[in-house]
Amino acid sequence: MKKRIGIFGSTGSVGRQALEVIREQHDHFEVEILTAYQNAGLLIGQAMEFRPNAVIIADKNLYKQVFEALDPQDIKVYAGDEALVQIMEMESMDLVLMAIVGFAALAPTLAAIQNKKQLALASKESLVVAGKLIRQLTIENRVPLIPVDSEHNAIFQSLMGEGNNPIEKIVLTASGGPFRGFNRQKLQKVTPADALKHPVWNMGPKVSVDSATLMNKGLEAIEACWLFGLKLQQIQVLIHPESLIHSLVYFTDGSVKTQMSRPDMKIPIQFALSYPERLHNNLERLDLSEQNTLHFESPDIENFRNLALAFEALEKGGNLPCILNAANEIAVQAFLREQIGFLDFRSC
Ligand code: NDP
Repeated sequence: MKKRIGIFGSTGSVGRQALEVIREQHDHFEVEILTAYQNAGLLIGQAMEFRPNAVIIADKNLYKQVFEALDPQDIKVYAGDEALVQIMEMESMDLVLMAIVGFAALAPTLAAIQNKKQLALASKESLVVAGKLIRQLTIENRVPLIPVDSEHNAIFQSLMGEGNNPIEKIVLTASGGPFRGFNRQKLQKVTPADALKHPVWNMGPKVSVDSATLMNKGLEAIEACWLFGLKLQQIQVLIHPESLIHSLVYFTDGSVKTQMSRPDMKIPIQFALSYPERLHNNLERLDLSEQNTLHFESPDIENFRNLALAFEALEKGGNLPCILNAANEIAVQAFLREQIGFLDFRSC
């Protein structure tokens, strides 16, 4: 039986890479649902190739365009935020890959869990704003939650077979983003185009800016707390520019486990879709004989204040992570529209 997958945010960076995985692994997976916000053209193209049962275009103004293209193909078309929630009742979907960016992912994520769908979660903001609720609902509904974010996927893999063995701490590795080593003077001059040029990963605009400000690592620290039941004091961030070690787990006997691979999101995406199995693929392999050294350094929290802000929000708890996330989503949009500069993030 092929696993029937719903890809929420199929037109984004994670969504498109998930479809590449499914194209390669078509003996194992088929596409049941595809969704987009406004990129109707790409959604239609994806639906023509992957023949899902239904698609959703979140922006209702684009419904007619998508309906006219796909209805004659016998593909159901729905529109609006409410459709992203209602579709979770569909029984023919085995696994939801949640890759909608930002707060917009929260309502469909909660609906997926309430409808007992296996959940591969890329949308870290959902755990940042409602981690406690998501954790509680996954336990109540016995829903497996598999993290897609490469760091959390690495921790998840390192914990396989560990049962209830306690974690001493985790190290979240970070590439450092495009502005690693920049001082205030240099940061004052950086543009949105510079921020979008990530040295290692090719990601959507919001997570690219978050990566440049190091807010991404702060959001990931909050995500890790809820996913793995950790406290702030158990989380360390280390810059590792080669991005080959995707995070580390320290156990109470002094042992350290990690997951390594070339920096390619298709690896954690495929793992999250195929879990608990591992499927063979032809992705380029990591060759450590070509890698003379691995570098590690502490993050610069003086110039990259957002990481410290996220840790503060995590420490104080309550609604602060949710407020932090909302302020950050607004600030990222303002930065991308050139309404604020890179250093203005600290005062937002
Ligand atoms: P993108 O911006 O590339 O894609 C976002 C997707 O969400 C698109 O399909 C977009 O549709 C859809 N979308 C945007 N706004 C809405 C909305 N209001 N309602 C419904 N759908 C919406 O993001 P990424 O793929 O880069 O990231 C997705 C999530 O995964 C983020 O939370 C990110 O932090 C996380 N992540 C991403 C990684 C990466 O490598 N990209 C790595 C690890 C985690 P449309 O195209 O029509 O606008």
